[in-house]
Amino acid sequence: MLPSQSQTLSSTLLQSSSIFFNNSLYASSNAMSDSHHSSMLSPSPSEYNSRMNMNDLRMRQSTFPHRQPIANPHERFLKRTMENCPANLTGRKRTNWLKAGRKAQNNQQLLSTLDPFHWPTYNYESPIFIHRRTSESHLYGIIHKISNVHLYTIDTEADRPTRRYPHSLPALIQIQAIHDENYSTVIIIEVQHLPPTSSSLFHSIQQLCQVIFSSSNKLMAWGDVKKELGPFEDFNLFDLSQVTNTLDLQKYFTKLWNQTHPHTSDCLARHQPVVDECISEDVLVCLVNSDDINDEFNPNDPAEDYNTCICPTEIRPYKATNAVWSLQKAVEFIFHQALDKTLTLNIWSCGLDFHLHTWQTHTDKRTRQSLIAYAMNDLFAPTNLYFHLNKTSSLSSNPTNPINLNTIQINTALDLPLFLILADSHAKYFPPVITISSYKLITKAISGLQWVNQSNTQLCATSIIIASSVFSLIFMFWCFLSHWN
Ligand SMILES: [Zn+2]
Repeated sequence: MLPSQSQTLSSTLLQSSSIFFNNSLYASSNAMSDSHHSSMLSPSPSEYNSRMNMNDLRMRQSTFPHRQPIANPHERFLKRTMENCPANLTGRKRTNWLKAGRKAQNNQQLLSTLDPFHWPTYNYESPIFIHRRTSESHLYGIIHKISNVHLYTIDTEADRPTRRYPHSLPALIQIQAIHDENYSTVIIIEVQHLPPTSSSLFHSIQQLCQVIFSSSNKLMAWGDVKKELGPFEDFNLFDLSQVTNTLDLQKYFTKLWNQTHPHTSDCLARHQPVVDECISEDVLVCLVNSDDINDEFNPNDPAEDYNTCICPTEIRPYKATNAVWSLQKAVEFIFHQALDKTLTLNIWSCGLDFHLHTWQTHTDKRTRQSLIAYAMNDLFAPTNLYFHLNKTSSLSSNPTNPINLNTIQINTALDLPLFLILADSHAKYFPPVITISSYKLITKAISGLQWVNQSNTQLCATSIIIASSVFSLIFMFWCFLSHWN
């Protein structure tokens, strides 16, 4: 779906939403509202704060009035060198100052040499934002849409600590509901913009979270899933004890990489086993190479990283015991793409969804768009790595073709009849993929689709069919609804 289409869709949904609250705190930002939302009211401060303890309250107040995100937080780091490091910075402060500069410069260097990380957008809709302005009917639709999903990727974002706000503030839970390798539904929960816990809308959001954070689902993250979710536990959206089936993709990736990229013989030769039962302990001490006094080589697992590794960087970029790969490095090595980390430290609690009306200028809107893209990349990157690893580790000979309307074909590998539902927004809550033992059903819901639309071929069903190889389908089901021309 095109962003413009989905925006129309979400704006329609917002117009039909009946859950609005009254809040003077939001009155100023609502002054920015367009005519569609001018009747929207926001929660009262007392309602809004009812569930918070003092600590929460302090955190919330720190975000009001809305702090705006930073468009280019790396800019000031890019020119840092040893030469221009302020003389008053010494020791650890100096190291950190330079390190931040080096990190930003490496990120910039990567972006200038590789294509940016991307994924085929035709199968993915815009993310679904969950906050106090999400309608309950929309939530129930999403619950239905993801009802058959049992694989999720999770990521979270928090506001960076600053001198003024020294504690990081939980801001986003990003969730990728993976229908299959080519279809996902992305949900972004804006936890600093939730409705009051006593509201029916909040209970509906809890219901959605219970569907996702369930022991019957596999939850993946680049890192420890429970640690990622820990800071969000106080929002009462999910029960962390139900999160039992998890996969730390960072560890999984590191392990598989190390197994498939063993240390070179030169590197290993430096660690020739010196343990020989015939040699007495006294002799062993003499055999220890003084260079390797701090060697972290683990003879029980010679595939692990260690600090005295001399392998080329292309094989072993990490040289420390228990090192784990950064997501950016993994994307670089596997997909030869650059995952931009410029925006990592930011004001994630700013209210990303335009419908929250926390933005003030067009720059604020543009920055939000970049943050949304970043938040989605941080889901798609681990998910794509997961599917890549599964394919390479199982040596699968059936690479799945990405399915879109122009390449759609009967999947002979699965040997299943494939059905397509092409529909307007009435099918927006259908699961995009349903696979059962006797067939596979793909639903493509295009908001505003018409039989014939001469001014916009993207909304013209006839054009889509003619332009695609859709005729090779065995059967095509057409949702033709009465309001269409
Ligand atoms: Zn090595």
